[in-house]
Amino acid sequence: MKNKKDKVEAVEVKCVKCGRTQIIYIPREDIPKCPECKVNMIINELLDEGKSY
Ligand SMILES: [Zn+2]
Repeated sequence: MKNKKDKVEAVEVKCVKCGRTQIIYIPREDIPKCPECKVNMIINELLDEGKSY
């Protein structure tokens, strides 16, 4: 039985080079690369609010 296990989580990712931040939703989205620096961004902050809306 499939539950709603694939819950999405908003995370803030950050470019370590220029400091650009972006909100993505995992696991639906992959960690993006910074469009300017072309480096992988890192997870800066989990924005789990525990709300369902
Ligand atoms: Zn950058």
